[in-house]
Amino acid sequence: MIYIKTDAEVELLRASNMLVSRTLAEVAGHIRPGVTTLQLDSIAETFIMDHGALPAFKGYAGFPRTLCTSVNDEVVHGIPSDYALREGDIVSIDCGVILNGFYGDSAFTFTVGEVKPEILRLLEYTRASLEAGVLEAVTGNRVGDISHAVQVKAESGGYSVVRTLVGHGLGRHLHEGPEVPNFGKRGTGTRLERNLVICIEPMINMGTKNTRVESDGWTVRTGDGKPSAHYEYAVAVRDGKADLLTTYDYIEEVLLKR
Ligand code: MG
Ligand code: MG
Repeated sequence: MIYIKTDAEVELLRASNMLVSRTLAEVAGHIRPGVTTLQLDSIAETFIMDHGALPAFKGYAGFPRTLCTSVNDEVVHGIPSDYALREGDIVSIDCGVILNGFYGDSAFTFTVGEVKPEILRLLEYTRASLEAGVLEAVTGNRVGDISHAVQVKAESGGYSVVRTLVGHGLGRHLHEGPEVPNFGKRGTGTRLERNLVICIEPMINMGTKNTRVESDGWTVRTGDGKPSAHYEYAVAVRDGKADLLTTYDYIEEVLLKR
């Protein structure tokens, strides 16, 4: 189902997504070689509960933890564990909260210590593909305009776009309509109305676009073991320019200090 929000509901969604943005920054301050993804999960859960919210992913379809932590060739939905991050790793941290009945959902891919230049380039292109998509999230465009912009930017760097997972509407449910693929044709798909709130979340691979799901039933990995990056913003469709409900500013402040 697609639910167009009132202005008041967009503000509630902003509060939820700002809490996610602050949670990701809290986690960012603890990312270093040796920290386990389960330790990061615990930090996030405490931070969310301390701010009067609930972790949205924990218990969602049986997912056991607060964060999705996806390392290197893991695309998304990695389960926090006693894996200790290593120098040169990348880790996508995806976080969801429920605050005042509305969901927040955003993700950022972090570097652990010194990371190879070719992997940094994958991160740059993935983030740029997200930003290219956001520029299209305006009244009167269609979902396919976002999808196409993300795909063109990612493929211009020589990367491939994951097909098996897509972005989505966001509101009182974690996953609402419409689906927001990271690949597609201009001028196709659902027309974007003012105050439609969507998550745009490119999952971009260095090698093959193909993925496989681990035996844990959750972890999605690249088919060839090459790295994958993932960034996610929640945005409200507006006239002329999308309203960003997620910010990376808090994360950037932490990363500048480390
Ligand atoms: Mg997410
Ligand atoms: Mg999402």
